Amino acid sequence: MKRILITGAAGFLGSHLCDRFIKEGFCVVGMDNLITGNMENIEHLMSHENFEFYHHDVSKYVHVSGKLDYILHFASPASPIDYLKIPIQTLKVGSLGTHNLLGLARAKSARMLIASTSEVYGDPLVHPQTEEYYGNVNPVGPRGVYDEAKRFQEAITMAYHTFHGLETRIVRIFNTYGPRMRLNDGRVLPAFIGQALRGEDLTVFGDGSQTRSFCYVDDQVEGIYRLLMSDYPYPVNIGNPDEISIAQFAEEIIELTGTNQKVIYEPLPKDDPMQRQPNITKAKELLGWEPKVDRKEGLKITYEYFKSLPEEKLYKKEHKDFSKYIDKD
Ligand code: UDP
Repeated sequence: MKRILITGAAGFLGSHLCDRFIKEGFCVVGMDNLITGNMENIEHLMSHENFEFYHHDVSKYVHVSGKLDYILHFASPASPIDYLKIPIQTLKVGSLGTHNLLGLARAKSARMLIASTSEVYGDPLVHPQTEEYYGNVNPVGPRGVYDEAKRFQEAITMAYHTFHGLETRIVRIFNTYGPRMRLNDGRVLPAFIGQALRGEDLTVFGDGSQTRSFCYVDDQVEGIYRLLMSDYPYPVNIGNPDEISIAQFAEEIIELTGTNQKVIYEPLPKDDPMQRQPNITKAKELLGWEPKVDRKEGLKITYEYFKSLPEEKLYKKEHKDFSKYIDKD
């Protein structure tokens, strides 16, 4: 039986990956420090005989006893509001955390896949973004803590591959959505759906002409699974190329939810990328992968999930209080 360590296991993507690998018959070791993750996302797995969970911060030395065949490093704050609130943890999990896990992968002779991001392209000057594009990142801007941690993560992972011959994989994840996103993490989709459900106006930042391309979580997980099982060590974009402006997206959410509210405009955050669309030629050719779930279908499932949440979650609008989790360094 294959054994896999998944960091960020209680997060949105991490928990869906745990489900997938359990379904594939793996022994899954989940790890999370629960700053942005939520145990409710993996509650259903806790009694499963092939699942174990460790409450641990991977920025500190990581010990796992027994064999490991694979490591997926998905621990990191991932929404702009989260990483603005915990910038140092964001830098540490991408750098120190990745280093610790690469060391563990070497010790166990495990294959390691890291979760990188379209943020490595920054506010891109090439459109759509191919893996060959080096990006346009402001290292000292508000997004720098995430973008540069992820760029460093790619660099150190590549170095372990070339210098130590470690088997490594790098996925560049574009905006992904689905059930288990946190309602108050500041991301555009939970923000709009939450506003619609509470009967508030939808807040579009800037004039709404900036674009994103949204991938449904099941498609994302399939792409990651195929990349892990492939023999390709260089970065691969996984995302849905169906691009939409944020203003149009707000209209789609208004139609989906049937809300009578309107759109209101707020200032565009600094360094907010103006356009984003993955070029997925590599994923198609190397992995035979492309997204299958269109936005209408994916949004409907996601809306049903948010609607099913208890009322108190919907009205707990304030952002999660991280202060009690933060250590002094
Ligand atoms: N956005 C918005 N209203 C909100 C939240 C976000 O207009 O209430 C915009 C944000 O400025 C960005 C886009 O939606 O242009 C996507 O934001 P998100 O935080 O989901 O992810 P990003 O792709 O920027 O990391």
